[in-house]
Amino acid sequence: MRVVLSLAALGPLLVFGQQAPPPIERSTLRLHYVQKPVGYERYEIAPDGDLSRRSASGAESEGLKLTADFDFTDRGGRVQLAATLRAKADFTPIAFQAKGKSYRFVNVESDVRVDGSDALVRADAAAERRVTLPPQFFTVDGYAPFSAQMLLLRYWKLHGQPRLLRTVPGQPTNDVIVEARGREAIRLGEKVTMLERFAIDGVVWGRETLWLDERGSLAAAITRAGGLSFEAVREDLEPALIQFVQRATRDRIGDLESITRANAPLKSGTYAMVGATIVDGTNRPPVPDGVVVVREGRIADAGPRDAVPVPDGVQTVDVSGKTLVPGLWDMHTHVTQIEWAPVYLASGTTTVRDMGNEFEFITLLRDAIASKRALGPRLLLAGLVDGPGPNAFGVYNAATPDEARQVVAKYHDAGFQQIKIYSLITPPLVEAICAEAHRLGMTVTGHVPNGMTIDQAAVAGMDHIAHLAIRGEAGSDDVNRVIAVLRDRKTVIDPTQSWNELLGHAGGSPIAAFQPGVAKIPPPLNRLFSNAGTAGIDAAGARARLERGLRVVRALHDAGVPVVVGTDEGIPGHSVHREIELYVEAGLTPLEALQAATIVPARAMKMDAELGTIEKGKRADIVVLNANPLERIQNIRTVRWTIIDGRVYDAQALWRSVRFQP
Ligand SMILES: [Zn+2]
Repeated sequence: MRVVLSLAALGPLLVFGQQAPPPIERSTLRLHYVQKPVGYERYEIAPDGDLSRRSASGAESEGLKLTADFDFTDRGGRVQLAATLRAKADFTPIAFQAKGKSYRFVNVESDVRVDGSDALVRADAAAERRVTLPPQFFTVDGYAPFSAQMLLLRYWKLHGQPRLLRTVPGQPTNDVIVEARGREAIRLGEKVTMLERFAIDGVVWGRETLWLDERGSLAAAITRAGGLSFEAVREDLEPALIQFVQRATRDRIGDLESITRANAPLKSGTYAMVGATIVDGTNRPPVPDGVVVVREGRIADAGPRDAVPVPDGVQTVDVSGKTLVPGLWDMHTHVTQIEWAPVYLASGTTTVRDMGNEFEFITLLRDAIASKRALGPRLLLAGLVDGPGPNAFGVYNAATPDEARQVVAKYHDAGFQQIKIYSLITPPLVEAICAEAHRLGMTVTGHVPNGMTIDQAAVAGMDHIAHLAIRGEAGSDDVNRVIAVLRDRKTVIDPTQSWNELLGHAGGSPIAAFQPGVAKIPPPLNRLFSNAGTAGIDAAGARARLERGLRVVRALHDAGVPVVVGTDEGIPGHSVHREIELYVEAGLTPLEALQAATIVPARAMKMDAELGTIEKGKRADIVVLNANPLERIQNIRTVRWTIIDGRVYDAQALWRSVRFQP
């Protein structure tokens, strides 16, 4: 009875709750990966026949059943997922099944059956467990299918818009936060569609944007898949894709500005940090009991206490017992959501190179951070360009030298530092892109394109190369020859070994064994990564593979090839630390591993006059650690405060601001 009353109050949104048999609702969403159309989600919502048969009485028995097919092809790989969701007329779930993949390496196999006030949950390969449900809950397992998130929104609206909504499965529990963000019009020619915009946080890590039309039908959704942007737009609204991207971007940057206001710097302006051990990132020995004077964003002076007096009137901060290191760099990331900004600062990372993103999002985010309206690491941008065709990545493609020059010009005009070449760029175009980028004062990074070897890519003009694209064993003639070419050309390598370790570890073995940070990440990320790993390999085999890579990293470093820390995202923040640890496992000293995350990338980006060490005159990018990483490299994880441009942030508060545990 309660349901019927609340239905009457709801008006036009109520498609399914009316006394007359509800109609069948069908829709098709066009799916995009980094704006490139890649597939479809087709769904149908029909009255649930089983339910109506089972119950003899009126409206309350009328249920619904969502059937969804989610299907796309990314760079030649098919990703498919089928899901059903049975619910009561008020959208309270009764049963939910999802099976397939939501992304290349994300397997989904969920089965939830509601049994009174409990749910029987089977997820992945784990045994069935019984979960006690709170009075309000929903069933959803990741962003796919989007139609399940649409029903989550309808449920949320109909049940008093609760602040937190528990969802199952979950790892072990998961709370979603939904916020209505207002109404807006989408214009396509003469046609105006009124929509309501929502932010959903917790289905995936960080906020997604969804729009419902006046009938409650999903118009569009913007989320992330595999760490990159993923967009769904209802077929009739497809030409409005960029409008949706721009509105979601403004909404998210507004969110980051809110996080920024709630996490004002503990200190800025002029102050002196006194008593810490300074590991300045040069080859000089650490300075015990040091002083660093910060003035308006720069290091005014740094050194031992008896050589660096604190000027009169300058406030001191006692940091005795702590260790200061230069701000860290991540040279391979994709900052596709604002939640990365606090995470990076929390992990001590003050400069990152973005290796491919949505143009509209990343340029606005960079500007918001640079203008200090938003907190976050300094963003250096590499603009991605791929060859043409159905297997290409992203929407910036080039098949001819002319097209290549146009793409380079667009990125140059928008202030990108680099071009990132992707796999389908042909060898002649590699030369054309490098020549044009160099002419404009940019450098070139990226993948070794198909049909080329790493040394050929370096000779063709690529200044940097992502991932460890060197086959064979360290010490072999082949590998020595390749390394000699890279050394002669001073090619910078970001070998992303923590990423290889994360995806290459034996499937089913715990990630916590090598990455303790996994215990602190939000439940949706935990679910994502607990499914990562490689099948058909045991822990020893996976480790042997990783060690082959680490031996090559060591050989590159020993030969004088600049090796820089890069994660390709991985476990947000924590993978920066893991990459540094792995270089020590490779045989670099802790100081050399730290330099691979500080002065070496600063030099690679020609910013070493400003950044990369704790030295007089440079920008005050400094990490305050509770323990010294030169004594034990794992101490790089003990970040207490992060200082960027002289502004001091509390790491624990920043972790919490995006639902990590500190
Ligand atoms: Zn990448």
